Formats: sequence, C-alpha cells, structure tokens
Amino acid sequence: MHTIESSAIKAIDALSRRLRGTVMRPEDPRFSIGRRVWNAAIDRHPAALVVCDDAEDVALAIRIAADHGTAVTVRSGGHNVAGRSVADGALLIDLSRMRAVVVNERAKAAVVQGGALWHDVDLATARAGLATTGGLVSSTGVGGFTLGGGTGWLMRRHGLAIDNLLAAGVVLADGRFARASVTENAELFYGLRGGAGGLGIVTSFEFRLHPLRQVLAGLIVRPATEASDTLRTFRDFASTAPDEFCGVMVIAHAPPLPFLPASWYGEPVIISALCWCGEPDAGERALEPLQRFGSPLAAHIGPMPYVQWQHMLDGSAPAGRQQYWKNATCDVLSDEVISLLASAANDLPTRYSEIHLQHLGGAVAQVAEADTAFASRRAGFFVNLIGVTPWAEELPELRRRVRRLYDQLTPYALPGLLPNFSGQDDGGLTARLDAARAQRIGSLRQRYDPHGLFVSG
Ligand SMILES: Cc1cc2nc3c(=O)[nH]c(=O)nc-3n(C[C@H](O)[C@H](O)[C@H](O)COP(=O)(O)OP(=O)(O)OC[C@H]3O[C@@H](n4cnc5c(N)ncnc54)[C@H](O)[C@@H]3O)c2cc1C
Repeated sequence: MHTIESSAIKAIDALSRRLRGTVMRPEDPRFSIGRRVWNAAIDRHPAALVVCDDAEDVALAIRIAADHGTAVTVRSGGHNVAGRSVADGALLIDLSRMRAVVVNERAKAAVVQGGALWHDVDLATARAGLATTGGLVSSTGVGGFTLGGGTGWLMRRHGLAIDNLLAAGVVLADGRFARASVTENAELFYGLRGGAGGLGIVTSFEFRLHPLRQVLAGLIVRPATEASDTLRTFRDFASTAPDEFCGVMVIAHAPPLPFLPASWYGEPVIISALCWCGEPDAGERALEPLQRFGSPLAAHIGPMPYVQWQHMLDGSAPAGRQQYWKNATCDVLSDEVISLLASAANDLPTRYSEIHLQHLGGAVAQVAEADTAFASRRAGFFVNLIGVTPWAEELPELRRRVRRLYDQLTPYALPGLLPNFSGQDDGGLTARLDAARAQRIGSLRQRYDPHGLFVSG
C-alpha cells in the first residue's frame, strides 16, 4: 500500500470536482495500467492520474497542485526511459487527450498540442507534403522529445526538433499562461529548447515545416563479422556526408525482416539504416559507398513516402519491456570505440538489446551554442546502448552488462549526454552540463519554478 499525503488527497478531491478531464485515483481499476510508462522497469506510484482535456485543465491542475503544495510530473508519450514523467506520490498530469495538430500549409508551420505523438504530427503534415524533424519511432511523445532537443532523420538538413520550434505555449508553475519564442520570454524559450523540461507544461508547440514527400531510405543487413568494416566506412562517409544524409548503424540480433534469408533471423548482425531527404538521383549516387563493400545479407533501399519511413522502426520498440539504456557522445569515432562496439556485436547483453550509433553534424552544428540549452551540438557521434529484456528478473544482469560496456566507452566519450537518452541512473540532467549552461538552466528553474512544483531531472 502506498501512502498518499493528506495535502495530495485534498488536491485530488478538488480536482475531481473541477477538472473537465478525468482524475484516476489508485483505487480506480484504470489506474494500474494508467500509471505505466513505456519502460516496464519503471514501477512508480503517483498519487493520482490527472488526465487533462485541454490547456485550461492543465492550468487548473497546476493551480490546485500548487495551492496544496503537491508536486507534479507531466507525461506526453511516456517514452522517457528513465521514467521522468512519473514519480511516487506526485500528481501525474497526463496530456494523452491533447493530441491535435493543425497545419498551416501556406505558412509552412504546425501547431501541435502538448500530448501529441510523432505519429500524429507526421500524418497531419504528410497530407500537406510537409515534414519536420521527429523521432525515429512514431509512438514517441512530441513533448519530452522536443524539450530534450530531438534528433531524427531530418536533423542534418533541417536541424533538431528545437531548431524548428517557432514558439511554445506554456502553463507556468503558478498556473499562468505564457508564450515563449525568440521575441517573447526569450530566456524561457532558451530553456525549453534542450533543457529537458521542468520549467512549465507546454500545452502547444509551434513547428516550422519543410516541403518533403519522399525519401530514399532503407536497410542494409550484414553479418556481425562485418561490424568493424561497416562502422569504419560509416565514420569515413559521415565526415564529408551531405546534409541530406542521416544514418544509424544498429548492432542487433536480426529481426525477421521479409527481405532477409530466414536462416539469419536471430543471428548477430549490423544493420545500416540510411535516409536521404534530398533529390533522389543525387541520393542514389551519394549512398553508393555505403552499399558496395562487404557481403550484405540483404539490402532494401528505395524511394518511399517519408511518413512511411517514419513508421518503419515502430515494430522494434514495443512498450512493456524492461529497458536499461546508456548514452555516450563522442567528438570522433576512434578505432578503439569501433573495436569495442564491433566486439559487442557478438556479445549483446540479451537477444533484444541493441546498440545504435548515430551521427550529428550538418544543420545541428550550425546553430550557435548559446542559442539553446541543448549541449551536444558539436559532438560528431552518439552511441545508445539499449539494454532490453522482457523479464524483470534479468534486469540486474542486464544493467551490469550494459554498464560494463559503457564504462569501457567512457574514456573515449565527451562529458555530456543527450538528455533524451539519459537513463535511470544518470541523475539530474544539469549535473552533466558545463558550468555556464548548468548555471543558466538552474537560474531559469529557480525563476520559473521557485517552489519546486515540477519533479524533473
Ligand atoms: C522507442 C524510442 C525511440 C526514441 N527515439 C528517439 C529519437 O529518435 N530521437 C530522440 O531525440 N529521442 C528519442 N527517444 C527518446 C525520447 O525522445 C525521450 O525519451 C523523450 O523524453 C520522450 O518524450 P515523451 O513525451 O514520450 O516522454 P515522457 O516520458 O512523457 O516525458 C519525458 C519528459 O519530458 C517531460 N514532458 C513531456 N511532455 C511535456 C510537456 N508537454 N511539457 C512539459 N514537460 C513535458 C516529462 O515531464 C518528462 O520529464 C526515443 C525513445 C524511445 C523509447
């Protein structure tokens, strides 16, 4: 039995009377599923779920929580692997009913409600032949993704999600609404772009959109014995790659892809996931060096609607598994790092675990460091160690093995990490920032949330 403070009970009573949306208490049969997040390893017990219908509801929830001194968390897609959207004893403000997306074709912009998923945005913008940088898996929430920077297939051409953010509508810790942009509440806008939350609840994001219908994209699967060559080729290619290109190297056990010989299902492989968002003929030529070496087991690359590519990896990331992730950023991809990753290819912690290597650069690196709170613009590459198991009892061993590989990587890594991929034991996100940035974000949190209403990393 989890005890709930009497002040929280009073707040829940008041909300139950006044909220347009739904308040779910622990005794509500929907609560036990509703408190869950994507990562099943997170097992926390909020005081109640406050499912808001609209921004007015969000403001009401904040005011009532503040009046009763009850801490809150906010949840959009619930995909944060560290479970930053749910905390024991806090009110969980759930935005899952606030998923509307309004596209203005002429202005090439979209207004997106704070609880939308990338799926919602990608479908709505695709209808107008437009797109913006979103997550690689379409069930990821726009909210947490954007506040942590937001890396995706289009980032090297069009920037991170935060670089396309034109404005945000925010409910502040005192329940007031504020609009943040480069001209309104500019310091708040700085913090929202990569500061990973804790400054208010964003009820609407306004994004710049870009004309894009088709991409040239697909997968090349090679045996894990070719991991070293694949990573080296990718590294060398990435150093001069055009901004239209974005690639992710995935070390995994082969999923049952329809174009892969069945004898390879479940075997250790390295998959090059490649996306070209420019002119297709130029893409065919540009991607050639990534295709012509080694002995691929299968290659499946071709033109397809961007929105289809955006949904391509969804099946690889179902909710409800136990996850333990670590993230490392590197300036350059040294031979030592390549050799560590290549040997890990034959020794992944579980058959569900993966390693993702991605590059930054291009438009990401063009934005001035001081313009946004995102701290890793100058990193060349980042590695995500994605530890996964369906079984809770395997979690301690999974952690140990992911951690061991991470410890081997850290001598070659930069001090920072990408907030979006921070794990359960990465602590407060500002702890890994340079002193000036940490101080700037710290003062912002002090100014916008002086009483610590938002539980944040
Ligand atoms: C399968 C998968 C794929 C991913 N792919 C990518 C990727 O390609 N690129 C990338 O950058 N990241 C990626 N991520 C990481 C992801 O962006 C982060 O975990 C992000 O925090 C998830 O956002 P969310 O809204 O789904 O999560 P939540 O758990 O709901 O929220 C995460 C944090 O943001 C806060 N928050 C959420 N919405 C709001 C809001 N509207 N206002 C204020 N605070 C808010 C929450 O309180 C919490 O602190 C991926 C994660 C998963 C699980």
